[in-house]
This record gives sequence, structure tokens and C-alpha cells, in this order.
Amino acid sequence: MIVIENCAVATVDGGGAEHASGHLVVEGERIVAVGAGPAPGDLPGVWEARRIDAGGCLATPGLINCHHHLYQWITRGLAQQGTLFEWLTELYPIWAGLDTELEAAAATASLATLLTSGCSTAFDHHYLFPPAATAGDLLGAEIEAAAALGIRFHPSRGSMDLGKSRGGLPPDEVVEDVDTAMAATEDAIDRWHDPSPGSMLRIVVAPCSPFTVSGELMAESAALARARGVRLHTHLAETLDEERFCRERFNCTPAEYLDGLGWLGDDVWLAHCVHLEPAAIRRLGETGTAVAHCPSSNGRLGSGIAPVTDLIAAGVPVGLGVDGAASNEAGQLGPEMRQALLVARLRGGPAALTARQALALGTIGGARCLGREDELGSLEPGKLADVALWRLDGVGHADIADPVAALVLGPPASVELLLVNGRVVVEDGELRTGSEEEIARNARAASRRLLDLAEEHR
Ligand code: ZN
Repeated sequence: MIVIENCAVATVDGGGAEHASGHLVVEGERIVAVGAGPAPGDLPGVWEARRIDAGGCLATPGLINCHHHLYQWITRGLAQQGTLFEWLTELYPIWAGLDTELEAAAATASLATLLTSGCSTAFDHHYLFPPAATAGDLLGAEIEAAAALGIRFHPSRGSMDLGKSRGGLPPDEVVEDVDTAMAATEDAIDRWHDPSPGSMLRIVVAPCSPFTVSGELMAESAALARARGVRLHTHLAETLDEERFCRERFNCTPAEYLDGLGWLGDDVWLAHCVHLEPAAIRRLGETGTAVAHCPSSNGRLGSGIAPVTDLIAAGVPVGLGVDGAASNEAGQLGPEMRQALLVARLRGGPAALTARQALALGTIGGARCLGREDELGSLEPGKLADVALWRLDGVGHADIADPVAALVLGPPASVELLLVNGRVVVEDGELRTGSEEEIARNARAASRRLLDLAEEHR
């Protein structure tokens, strides 16, 4: 049992309960008590528990990252001025050299960065699978990396089949045929998907985007996900180039295209949704389709600002994503709350998004994207013990009286403690399940090897 006391608590529960000085009690993998003041003395086992005096800290739910491409960690800093399509065109041939060793190094660095920025659950949209004969088992490699670090993980066996020769954006060498992609996706569900309560590993079906995937593969992916009861994800409406592509090829917007394929529903969440017409926003709300908002990546690629305030008003569940580190080199989830607030206000004025709404996007909103709001995303008795304790008594935050404002508006806060499933994964701002020095060394070596490989094949 772990008892955390003497800290501010933002529960992000349905009523938005907060405590200026409160407690949190964790037993095994679950939260058993949350409230104001010290922990109740009559809880069984409370006096033998590990007690943490968390004065100067704020407890929130662990953050949930709803969109990422972990493998991109080792291709950061490239195509610095490109649009999405230019950036992808430069990077695809480099990514074609991925193998399991490179994947492990990149995934470990990406996930370690998420953990030390307060993220306890991560989704990975892995859609690029060079032939298994040369690349090996990429998904297996990242699943192993996630388990070693102790993060709750929702990886996808994604796919692309629309190569350049058929009018798509990616070169043919990084796409698969429909049968290969579908067989591998089904195999990933069989091997790894754990639907049980408290699960640390769930598989997602996630074809890449309308400009890299055929309608046939999109439709088959949705059918498989629904037959197997797993969640469904893709990129949508990220850029105006994508909109032009869809209008030319399908004579409709990206949202209409996906709707026509029978995709929209409360088992689906979509990354970006920057360029949506009012009708599409209403349609997402009606169908319960969720959105992963990626403000830094959208800024890095100059894609635009997603209409998050309008999405929330339409009843669309919205979570946050850092997106792949090649389009968000920072790779930290904590600061995305601040980014989300700032870009919402650039679009809609100073009342567009509050600090508490930004915290909700990073926590319960993310849980809704992943279909786990009954277990994750708020601090309530019975929920899983994924808890972030942020240190707010240093120069950067101490004089801001409102702890939620300090966390969201202030500089990136140090993570005093991160519990995932009741286990200490980060403490005193440092990863406890791996050596950050070794992770950095491996990522640097992997990046060099991948870029050298690309140079040889040029
Ligand atoms: Zn993405």
C-alpha cells in the first residue's frame, strides 16, 4: 500500500473535485481512497503502508498519450521546413531501413520521454512495416520495450497499401498488400491483445491515412476491429493537401470519405482533425467518434489549428497526442496541455480553453479515446493506480496559487512520482525502470545507423 498525503489533488472526476491539501491511497494496482486532509486512519493496512509526504506537489491522473509513432524518435530534426507531404516524402525512404534493434532503441527513448513527462498510458500508431524478412518483428520489439519500462501500452498493428504506383504518397517499398497487412493485424490481436480489466496491453487496428491506404484496406480493417472488439484509429484531416487529395480522388472531404466507409463510431478515434467543416464536427459528435489533438506536431508542420473548442461543444471526446517525434522533437506529453490551451486561444480567444479543460484533455479525454474511461483518466476509488505527482514548489511554479494553473501554464513541471498500475516508474524526476544515459546512447547509435543505411541506398 502507498499513502500519498499533504499534496494538492486534482481528481478530474465527473464533478471536477479538487483538494488544496489531500490524500491518495493505493493498494496493489488500484486507488482505494482519495480525499481532503490526511488519509483515513481506519483503512486496513494504512499504518504499515509506504507513506509519502507530498508537500509542494499536485497529484493528477497519469497522462494518456493518444497518438504517437515511437519509431520516429531516431529520425528527429530532419525535413525541418517541410509540409506534411514534403516531410513524409523525405522520411519514408529512411524509415524503410527499420529493424527490430532500431525499433527497440527508438521505442525505448520515446516511451522513457513520455514517462518522465507524466504519461502513464501510451498508444503507438505503428503503420510502417517493411518486409518481415529484413525488418523482423517490429511490433514485438516495441511491446518488449514497453513492458521493460512498465508503461501501460496500446500499440497498433497499422498498415499502408497505397504506394506511389497506385496514386498514393509512400514509395512502394514501404507498403504491403491487403492480405499481408490483414493477416499480420489479426495475428497481432491473437498474440497480444489483453481485453481483461486492468490490462497493460491492448492492440489497436490502425491503417495509416486516406492518402496511404486503399478504401478496401480501410473497410477490411474496420470489419476486423469490430469482429474482434478492438479499437480503430487512423489519421484524418491533418492538412489541406490531404483535403485536396480526397476531393480529387474521391470527390469528397476526408471526413465524408471515412463516413462513407462506415468508419465513424464510438469505438474509433482519429488523429488531428485540423480541417473539419461544421457538418463533420456535428457528425463526429453524433457518432461518438473521438479525436486525438496534436498541437505541437500541427505547429511543427504548419498544418493548422484543430477546432478543439467546437469539437468539445459538439460532444466529441478529445484527448492529446505528442505525435511522432520526427514532427514533435520534444516528445513530452506534459507540455502538450499548455500547447493545447495556447493554440485553442489563438483560434478562439482567451476563453476558448481553460487550464482545467487542458488537464482533462490530457487525462480523462485520453481515456475516452482509448475506451478506458471506466478504469483510467481520473483519481477515484476503484480506478487503476496511474498517478502523476508533479513538483510545484520550485522557482518555476511556487508563487502560482492555483496548482492546476501552475501545472498547465507554468514551465514543464518535474515528475516527483509516477505510478503505473500501482508501481513506481518515475521518482524524483528520474526513470526508475531504465538508465536514461543508456537509452540516450542507444538512440544516438540507432539514429546514426539508420541514417547511414539510408545514405548507402540513396
Ligand atoms: Zn501521426
